[in-house]
Amino acid sequence: MIKLRASRVELARLCPMSMRPGGVQSTSEPARMGTAVHAALAEYVMNRPFEFAHVAGQNGVSDLEELRILFNCGVSILKQLREDYGLFNDCWVEVYSQCSIEQVLALSGHADVMEVAREDAKTIHLLDWKTGRERKTSYDQLATYAYLILHDERLASAGIEEVVPITAWIRDREIEIGAAFTRENLDEWLKAMLADLNRDVFCPGHHCTFCPYNHTCEALNNKNKSALAIFRDLNPAEMTPAELAPIIAARWDELRHLEAKIKEVKDLVKEQVKERGSLPTSIGHKLVMETRQRKRWNDDELDEMLIKDGWTILDCDSCRSYDSKAVLESIKARAKQDKEKIGDAVKLFLEEAEECGALSYKETQALTEIKDV
Ligand code: SF4
Repeated sequence: MIKLRASRVELARLCPMSMRPGGVQSTSEPARMGTAVHAALAEYVMNRPFEFAHVAGQNGVSDLEELRILFNCGVSILKQLREDYGLFNDCWVEVYSQCSIEQVLALSGHADVMEVAREDAKTIHLLDWKTGRERKTSYDQLATYAYLILHDERLASAGIEEVVPITAWIRDREIEIGAAFTRENLDEWLKAMLADLNRDVFCPGHHCTFCPYNHTCEALNNKNKSALAIFRDLNPAEMTPAELAPIIAARWDELRHLEAKIKEVKDLVKEQVKERGSLPTSIGHKLVMETRQRKRWNDDELDEMLIKDGWTILDCDSCRSYDSKAVLESIKARAKQDKEKIGDAVKLFLEEAEECGALSYKETQALTEIKDV
């Protein structure tokens, strides 16, 4: 019997060979961070005390500050769901369920948060936290949870008829309420899913990044080689943008895949440079790790400071994302309007923001090429 977790269903549909038993699932820092954020939020939802350092340690996460920020984003989404929608005030977390289908496939999954709707005891609300930077559809994952819930004997006998999925995009502080899953529409989904899983083919693509076989898969290796050959033979300087764009668009998947491969290789080089101190490049330079200061804006303190300084809510909204560029552009525009020196205005603003805790700096390390003098 093939065992498939909800989080792996989408990959298995894209490439059925990815669900063979075995393979080595590597856990990246973002994946570990995602697990840690889920764990901290589960404690919060259930009103249980916890220590960030403990959760970080348990999940092998080193960036405590990032964990706190993502956790706080999740909390603000939960508050919004509780206050504005009246949801998830009485709920369960990390609900595990499993079931077997036709004695060939065992589906299982942990739903992040769920509750039975108060006004309609036939509906279950299902909340799924997403911590990734890339907004990836997770229809199959949500459909699997819904299938497991609606085929749970206890819930079926309690009269549950539908599951409403709610995706929380933590980094964007956004929620997305999906269409309800019912037994009828899930039967259609299951049919299509089983048809995809029954194919006996390798289908390499961008999704290979998440596959436990991606270090050894020959199909993927061949795809990478042909992608390299395509881009090596392309000469953009001899083509017009109108000629080039459709060729690149048609090869978009290969391009994304090469990018992922290059990132993987660069990460390996980074580790080596960290270990050895530096590495020479082919043009007589050297690669070193450079320490940089990264700005971090703290939303609530920044709002408070801006309003105290006479900014309008509209100004705050214009730099709502608080990436440093948006904030600085707003200050520059104001400085120009007031005929102030832009440099002075920016400097004063940053000093004030740092003082009141609206701005903090974090040291990051970046791989840099420098002249070997
Ligand atoms: S690496 Fe890609 S092609 Fe190979 S089994 Fe995994 S998903 Fe399929």
